[in-house]
Amino acid sequence: MKIFFSFFLLFTMCSAYSQTNIISTNLTAEQVMIGDYDPAAFSAPILLNHPDTIANGLNTNVNPDSLHIYLEKLGSFQNRNSGSDTVSSIKGIGAARRWVYQKFQEISASYNNRLLPSYLQFDLSICGVGQHKNVFAVLPGLDTTDHSVVIIESHLDSRCEGLCDTICLAQGSDDNGSGTALVIELARVMSSYSFNHTIVFLTNIGEEQGLYGSEAFADYVQGKGIGVKAVLNNDIVGGVLCGYTSSPPSCSPFGDIDSTQVRLFSYGGFNSLHKGLVRFIKLEYKEQLLPLVDVPMTLSMMTSEDREGRGGDHIPFREHGILAMRFTSANENGNADVADTGYIDNQHTSRDVLGYDTDFDGLLDSFLVDFNYLARNAAINGNAASMAAIGPKTPTFALTTGGNQVDVIITADQSYPQYRVGVRSLTYDWDSVYTFSSAAGAITLSAAGTYYLSTATVDTNGVESLFSGEIATTITSVNDPGTKRGIQLLPARPNPADESTMITVNVLQPMDYKIASIRVLDTNGNLVKELIVKLEKGINEALYHHGYNASGTYLYALVIDGAIVETQKMIFGK
Ligand SMILES: [Zn+2]
Repeated sequence: MKIFFSFFLLFTMCSAYSQTNIISTNLTAEQVMIGDYDPAAFSAPILLNHPDTIANGLNTNVNPDSLHIYLEKLGSFQNRNSGSDTVSSIKGIGAARRWVYQKFQEISASYNNRLLPSYLQFDLSICGVGQHKNVFAVLPGLDTTDHSVVIIESHLDSRCEGLCDTICLAQGSDDNGSGTALVIELARVMSSYSFNHTIVFLTNIGEEQGLYGSEAFADYVQGKGIGVKAVLNNDIVGGVLCGYTSSPPSCSPFGDIDSTQVRLFSYGGFNSLHKGLVRFIKLEYKEQLLPLVDVPMTLSMMTSEDREGRGGDHIPFREHGILAMRFTSANENGNADVADTGYIDNQHTSRDVLGYDTDFDGLLDSFLVDFNYLARNAAINGNAASMAAIGPKTPTFALTTGGNQVDVIITADQSYPQYRVGVRSLTYDWDSVYTFSSAAGAITLSAAGTYYLSTATVDTNGVESLFSGEIATTITSVNDPGTKRGIQLLPARPNPADESTMITVNVLQPMDYKIASIRVLDTNGNLVKELIVKLEKGINEALYHHGYNASGTYLYALVIDGAIVETQKMIFGK
C-alpha cells in the first residue's frame, strides 16, 4: 500500500548539521542491546514472566505517589533546557540527568543489579552547549536469538518561551516531567519481571530544539545494528485540564477535564505498521489490563502522526524505519505557540508547573498533573511494552477470497497453539479479532465491502505477537456500481472527522488513465480542494486536511480523466 499524497507536512526533521561522536557510556548495556551477552548473568532471583502476573503487577504497583515524588524532584531543577547548567548539583540539566541516572542505579540495586544505567553522549551545538547526554537503562532479556529491544521513551528537557532561555523557571511538569516520571516508574515496576526481549527505558535531551536526542539514539541503534521491535514515546501524559489553544485535534472547551482518555498518535495510513502497533496496544489493554482496573480508560487512535504542526521523539525512530508511536493526554494546556501574543496557556512557559499552593501554606494543593491519570497511562504503556517483549514472533500470511469467505493461511517460525486474525473494515480499529487453533482457517464475512486482515501468533501463555502487515480483500456485491468499473471510492475514515480524514480508493484491477483526482466540494457544488492522486492496483490512500473548526457537510468525488466515477459524503465536526 502507498500513501500517494500527504496534504500537509507535519514536521520537518531536516537539519543542516547532525549529531556526532555518539557513544554509550556503559559498554555492558551496549553489548546487551546488540545481543552479545549471557542472559544468565542478569537473571532474576524469582522468574516472573507470566503475562497475567505482569499485568497484575503493573496495575497494582505503578504508584501515583512515586510519580508525584519524581515530578517534585524534576521540577526542583528549575530549568532542564538542553543549554542549561551542567555543573550545579541542584539546578539545570546536568543535575537533572545525574538524578535520573542515580534513580536507575537505585532501582537496579533493589533488583539484583539487573538494570544497566547508561548515558548516550553525543556532540551537537544546541543552545550554545556542544555535548549532550540522553539517560537510559537497559533491562536484559532472556532470549538472545531474537535480540530486538523494546524502547519506552520520554524527553527530559524543558523550555520556556525563549527556545534557549536557560535562566527562566522551566519546570516542564507536564511537558515532559510527566513522561519522564512515567519512564522511571516503569523501570522500577518492570525490573522485577523477566522478558524475552530486552527493554530500554530512555529519557532524551534536545527534544524541544529539534528531536535531537531521540535522533541520536535512532542513529546509534542503526549504527550498532541493534534491532528495535517497537518504540512507545510518552510526551505530555499527565495533564487533564484543557487550555484555550490546545493543538488540534485536541480538547475543548477551555477548562474541560478529561482523566479517562489518552491519545495514541502514529504515522501513516490506517494499514501502516505503526497504526498496527497502536491496535496491538489497544488490544493488549482490553484483554490484559481492562479486566483488572478500577477506572477504565479510552485509548483513542489518532489519524495523524502528531498534533497539527507538532512533533515528538517517536518521529526520528519512524524515520529510521522503526515501529513507533506516541502517547499524549486527551487534554493539553495550550498549543505551545508562545510566539502568539496573548498566549496564556501553560505549555513551553514558566507556567508549566506541577500545581498551585492555593492556601499559601508552602505546599502544593491544586495539581495540574493528575498522578492517578499518569499512573493509568504508565500501566497502559508498561502492559503493551511487556506483551511485545514476552510475545512470540510475527507471522506472515496469504489469503484467498471466494464469495464472502476468506481463507487464511499463516506461515510462522514454529507451530503455535493459536493464531489471531484481525479484521478491519471501515474504522481505524479491528471489527473483530478471530482466534484460530491452527495456521489455516476461514472467516465468513456478512457484508460486501473491503476488509483488511492481519495476523499474529499466540504462545502457550496466550500472548500475541505484534501483528503482521495488512492484506486487503474485497467481498463484491452486484449492487455496487464502483465494483463494476473495477474501482471503489471507499468511505472516508474517520467520518465524521474533526479536521483530517483519509480518503481511500480501492483499485481492483490494473487500469489505464491520464489523470485522476479527488475533488472536495461543498454541498452547493463549489470546489474546495482538488488532490491529484496516483492510482495503482490495491489500496490507495490520500490524507485530506480540512482545517480546524471548519465544520460542515462536504462531498468528495473521484474523478478520472474528467469523468466523475463516484461521489461520497463526509462530515466535519467542531
Ligand atoms: Zn514535549
